[in-house]
Amino acid sequence: MPEIKKHIAIAGGGWAGLACAVELSLIGHQVTVLESAKQLGGRARRVAFGDQAVDNGQHVLIGAYRNTLALLKRLDLTVDELLHRSKLNLHLQYCDGKEFNLRSPNLLAPLNLLAALLSAKGFTLVDKWHALGFGLRLFTYSLSVDDDISVAELLHRHHQTRNNITALWEPICLASLNTPIEEASARIFIRVLYDTFCRGSSDSDLIVPKTDLGAILPDPAVDFIELHGGNVHLSQRATELVIEQRHISAIKTEDKTISADHVVLALPPHACIPLIKSHPALHDVAYNLSAFTYNPIVTAYLRYKSSIRPDRSMQGLLGTTAQWVIDRSISGQAGLLTVVISGPGKHMQLENDELAGHIQNELHKCFPHWPRAEEVMIIREKRATFSSRVNIDLLRPTNKTAIQGLWLCGDYTATGYPATIESAVISGKTTAELIHRSISN
Ligand SMILES: Cc1cc2nc3c(=O)[nH]c(=O)nc-3n(C[C@H](O)[C@H](O)[C@H](O)COP(=O)(O)OP(=O)(O)OC[C@H]3O[C@@H](n4cnc5c(N)ncnc54)[C@H](O)[C@@H]3O)c2cc1C
Repeated sequence: MPEIKKHIAIAGGGWAGLACAVELSLIGHQVTVLESAKQLGGRARRVAFGDQAVDNGQHVLIGAYRNTLALLKRLDLTVDELLHRSKLNLHLQYCDGKEFNLRSPNLLAPLNLLAALLSAKGFTLVDKWHALGFGLRLFTYSLSVDDDISVAELLHRHHQTRNNITALWEPICLASLNTPIEEASARIFIRVLYDTFCRGSSDSDLIVPKTDLGAILPDPAVDFIELHGGNVHLSQRATELVIEQRHISAIKTEDKTISADHVVLALPPHACIPLIKSHPALHDVAYNLSAFTYNPIVTAYLRYKSSIRPDRSMQGLLGTTAQWVIDRSISGQAGLLTVVISGPGKHMQLENDELAGHIQNELHKCFPHWPRAEEVMIIREKRATFSSRVNIDLLRPTNKTAIQGLWLCGDYTATGYPATIESAVISGKTTAELIHRSISN
């Protein structure tokens, strides 16, 4: 129990808000979570496909998500029961059959990256030579850029070949930054590559949920918060902040005013702006948040007769609209496949049934022996992530604001990472630590 127990109101029950709430509950403070939707989880949430629980988008984690994994352990969850972990083994193919494979062996980092590049399949010796040079510079920090540039420019400066770009760096950049290489920040990309390949040998492991995302964090987090005396309220949209003389005292929803010693806005930038823009001390932050742009992710769930079993649990496709095909057998849902399309593109102009047909045609071309799916559900998240574009880090706010007791938290804050679960959890944890420190001082 802390010496001084405080009440903290947290608007937003996504992974950042929940991570913050769990950490503060653990320290002994009382939290109230206000979530505008009917369910928790935000952009990483459970949805229904018929009688099956799936997610609003296929989420893939990596071994480097240390804060997320630590949070699950803190909730006393048996991580192995919730998450399927395997060594990095990327298969990408064109529909004409040309294949690429990058497999990370069980060696210390960065030897695993170097061995993976050397033994990669589908790449020529020239490709490997340039990829190895890039990998070595990554490890020795000589890739870093003083002024941010695009990933495309970074790859050009380091003489990456066409194969390396299209079958290696571009798919990794889209999957991790959800931003096309022509716009993506080299600084954020280098950070992701460094943390994935240059620290621990298991940091590049791929981690796929065995269950729906709701069962991984939101459900256990609510139990934990309530057990520690906190409350979680759904369908409660934060509408106004009560600020007097640069000090916050309460947050309002449509039907309640909740007094609090501290208020955390764990909302995406576009949802923060209406709450903060009228306060002069927050003008600069509101102005920066209004400059954020967003990229979509489209997820298609395809239901087959359960007898269908792709050769691989995760298959990358090149030259098609569909980018990744993931076999949900891994989540105990045999016969269900997920197709992921990250980033903007012409597919966003298609109606759902046109897009479903288009994806089915592409899969038929690449895997002629697969039958047509019996049912398809398309989920479009138009603002899936902020765009990790060049110099975006200059706009990302710190957790602390100019108003005493008001904090910002979410994947978009200044974590240095792209919009990911790990960035959200880091932000939630850091905010909780800062609040506790400010109370203790
Ligand atoms: C389709 C898709 C696929 C993804 N794939 C991956 C992946 O493979 N790996 C990965 O690491 N990350 C992935 N991400 C990104 C990841 O989901 C996000 O980075 C993370 O969930 C962001 O969490 P957050 O808490 O910062 O924000 P959010 O999840 O946006 O949480 C904000 C919460 O605030 C609520 N809210 C909004 N306004 C108000 C208000 N006024 N009052 C109260 N509540 C409000 C919202 O309903 C929401 O619940 C993906 C995202 C999407 C959409």
